[in-house]
Amino acid sequence: MFAAVLLIALIGALAYYRAPVLAWTVVLAAWLASLQLGFGYGVPTLLWGGFAVIAAVLNIIPLRRAVFTGPVFGVFRKITPAMSQTEQEAINAGTVWWDRDLFSGKPDYQRLLSFPDPKLSVEEQAFLDGPTEQLCSMIDDWKITHELKDLPPDVWQFIKDQGFLGMIVKKKYGGLEFSNYAHAKVVTKIATRGGTAAVSVMVPNSLGPGELLQHYGTEEQKDYYLPRLAKGVDVPCFALTSPYAGSDAGSIPDYGIVCRGSYTDPRTGEQHENVLGLRVSWEKRWITLAPVATILGLAFKMYDPDHLLGDKEEIGITCALVPTEHVGVCIGRRHYPGGAAFMNGPTWGKDVFIPLEWIIGGREFAGQGWRMLVECLSVGRCISLPAMSVACGKLTTFTTGAYARIRDQFGLPIGKFEGVDEAMARIGGYTYQMEVAQDLALTGLDMGEKPSVLSAVLKYHNTERMRKTLNDAMDVHGGKAVVLGPRNYQGRAYQSIPIGITVEGDNILTRSMIIYGQGAIRCHPFVLREMKAAMANDATEFDLAITGHINFVISNVVRSLWLGLTGARFASSPRSGATARYYKQITRFSSAFALLSDMAMFSLGGSLKFREKLSARLGDMLSNLYIATACLKRFEREGAQKEDLAVLRWAVENALFDLQVAMDGFLANLPSRGLAWLLRKIIFPWGLSLKPASDRIGTKVARAMMEPGGMRERLTRGMYVPPSEDDAVGVLQHALNAILATEPLEQKLRKLARDGRFSSITAKERLEEAVRSGLITQAEFEAVQRARKLKRDVIMVDDFDMALAQHDAGLLQRHIF
Ligand SMILES: Cc1cc2nc3c(=O)[nH]c(=O)nc-3n(C[C@H](O)[C@H](O)[C@H](O)COP(=O)(O)OP(=O)(O)OC[C@H]3O[C@@H](n4cnc5c(N)ncnc54)[C@H](O)[C@@H]3O)c2cc1C
Repeated sequence: MFAAVLLIALIGALAYYRAPVLAWTVVLAAWLASLQLGFGYGVPTLLWGGFAVIAAVLNIIPLRRAVFTGPVFGVFRKITPAMSQTEQEAINAGTVWWDRDLFSGKPDYQRLLSFPDPKLSVEEQAFLDGPTEQLCSMIDDWKITHELKDLPPDVWQFIKDQGFLGMIVKKKYGGLEFSNYAHAKVVTKIATRGGTAAVSVMVPNSLGPGELLQHYGTEEQKDYYLPRLAKGVDVPCFALTSPYAGSDAGSIPDYGIVCRGSYTDPRTGEQHENVLGLRVSWEKRWITLAPVATILGLAFKMYDPDHLLGDKEEIGITCALVPTEHVGVCIGRRHYPGGAAFMNGPTWGKDVFIPLEWIIGGREFAGQGWRMLVECLSVGRCISLPAMSVACGKLTTFTTGAYARIRDQFGLPIGKFEGVDEAMARIGGYTYQMEVAQDLALTGLDMGEKPSVLSAVLKYHNTERMRKTLNDAMDVHGGKAVVLGPRNYQGRAYQSIPIGITVEGDNILTRSMIIYGQGAIRCHPFVLREMKAAMANDATEFDLAITGHINFVISNVVRSLWLGLTGARFASSPRSGATARYYKQITRFSSAFALLSDMAMFSLGGSLKFREKLSARLGDMLSNLYIATACLKRFEREGAQKEDLAVLRWAVENALFDLQVAMDGFLANLPSRGLAWLLRKIIFPWGLSLKPASDRIGTKVARAMMEPGGMRERLTRGMYVPPSEDDAVGVLQHALNAILATEPLEQKLRKLARDGRFSSITAKERLEEAVRSGLITQAEFEAVQRARKLKRDVIMVDDFDMALAQHDAGLLQRHIF
């Protein structure tokens, strides 16, 4: 009996700590020997023999290859689905970072906690406090979105002059060369003031000509364009999407044929005769900044049917920079995306001749366009839309928190009703999740990583949380947020939600195909090694990878079972106290996720790619593990403030609960029912044990959002808060402070009324009566009067004269292609 228990304990420990094959051999041999020598059992020679054969096969590599991994290699090569070039390029793009730890089933928290805290340089901080603050103060979003349908000329000029369009451009070209962290914080701050301005700043700094030129441009292209982009002399756009290719951008029908031709360079006026170039035809739509762009980044498929460049006829997707003044470029008309007025429009051209020198990177980069785009996407996707989502979170936390305290119904501030505080807690909790998730990824970017999987996680989860926070903020504000006008600070953002959801990889596609699809191959410690070995026909590398992989699976079975049985109580944690159990739970579910991931690949093989609902749930598991760890990292970074514990708990507990929902859904739908049953028993031996954050925690978060204090301050830090009481957002903080300060006085007035001390009826008259009869001082009278005025300013909405409808109707002239 003791020997059997010892054996189970030894196997458990070997598997739990992922011991190498040799360690297994030595420990099990020692156990057998101890049976014979120590306990006096007679171990049959047959058992020793069997053990020796298995040990030899597993430890002697040539033997292992001959009898075990070699045959597996043959089968693996046959069943591994062929990868298209675009898939390979997507897989190879970017780097893996903290996501690999989460995939490992054994995240290294010391590593997480040792990542440097993202910081702003003195210059970056000055830019945020100076030009960015000033830009925000110049933005009147209602005027922009309703009246001008554009940024006013002085705002455009300010953006260009101050270098906002060149935040990513290197200093030697006249750009600001900001860190990714600073870049994101600038976008966030502007976006808390208005989406149109934020998008106009964000796009040239995101995936587009600037980014592509810096990475791949020829020296001549960099020297010419980058200083012009940095100062807004040139305004770029990047055109990939066509009416026929949106999500499936690799299938664009736009093409360029290699030929000889003549052209006049619009930049110099020089005429060039009989040069080697391309005859390009394209039809693109939804291109941001296209209507005002001076250079058009254009993606098309390049063909060389006459072999003017070489043997290859289909050269592949190519990116070129075309001055928009070039003969044949049609550009300048506008689309009108909902809720925003940033420039966006179509562009088209037929048989437009461009020289080969206009290809980004020159001739050498012909056909490299897809690789260039996916490589750069991982950076931009971590910054722009996630930063805009954070901005929505901050703005809604700031406004809804204050509004819910200022607005009262049934004799109470609405935020004190549980139904409302539930919605408010989601706003605060998701805002925390969005910011911490982005900050951790920015840390990675500034360490030189290009975490492509995490960029997809951020794109999807931040924009989805933006959608949820805005929905909740709309609900809490009621009619105040429905009626549009200058006093409505979130109606436009609400209308614009689908833009963030759709662009840079639509969310349905990102969740169901990209996050796990890329993650499974990129972050898994062995799968990519195995696939590369299969493609390179490298049996030695395959042998090492597959043995490690089997060990990995055994380990995750044992770890998941043990951590499930014990509720991860004995798992290690880098911190004691309130957060320790979260670290332990993350370890538990990281092992479970790694196991489910392997079992999904094992049972579904290549068809997993098409089981998008399962793939999406695996992606949700990875994403929520990431978000939970990012919360813990941030909590530590902020000095583990007790005040923030409620929001941390809300954020981590709900992330882990969402992860459990994904695991439950996955197990309920895995086609191999027997396997699903077994996995459920291993991972959830006592059933589904996690609960979402409690109502009590939610109420704490909501209450902290309604009062000036550390948590409200930290959640909204970095947003633009207009100082003026005349501003719809600015007045909220003034009103909140005034109402909190005069609350005892209002109570006193209510009591006096109850005691029958007033002869007048209305609140206004009673206030005047109170000061007249000396029940309150003149200063108290003025304070209450001011608070009531500010409150009225907050709750009122706009009304317009009848000309409003006519104004909108006549604004745009429709054009049909
Ligand atoms: C305001 C705005 C600005 C834009 N700016 C630019 C720009 O500057 N440059 C540029 O090149 N493009 C731009 N775009 C285009 C944008 O990138 C595309 O809209 C986006 O790629 C999605 O394409 P689509 O809208 O045609 O949707 P579709 O590709 O038609 O997709 C429709 C739906 O099907 C889903 N779907 C498609 N395939 C799959 C799949 N395999 N699995 C699961 N779901 C799938 C999508 O997720 C989506 O929900 C912009 C678009 C908008 C609206």
